[in-house]
Amino acid sequence: MRFCKNCGHEATLKSDTKDIRYICENCGRAEKVKEMKLDKIYAYIAMDNQGNEAIVAASIGEIIMPLVMGDRLRVESYREIALEVGRTENVPIRLVEFTKRSDIERVY
Ligand SMILES: [Zn+2]
Repeated sequence: MRFCKNCGHEATLKSDTKDIRYICENCGRAEKVKEMKLDKIYAYIAMDNQGNEAIVAASIGEIIMPLVMGDRLRVESYREIALEVGRTENVPIRLVEFTKRSDIERVY
């Protein structure tokens, strides 16, 4: 949670295709979030009754998307999809966070 530097009211995280900003719901002040580095990855994972885990995937339009996210904003926007998969498949779904990053190679 972040508070507005102008009026102290709570600011809400919003994103569009260009950038991510905190917008004050009281005075409308916008604060751009500085460049994003992926130091955490979040994923919704499912576990079957043998204890095997897998990343939850869901159809979004015609694309099958693994529910892996680089920021908390997307975590929240995918929550309903993860919930729906859990209900449909009747499996427990967990939100997990991975925090250890290893850069393996530069591909391009
Ligand atoms: Zn404000």
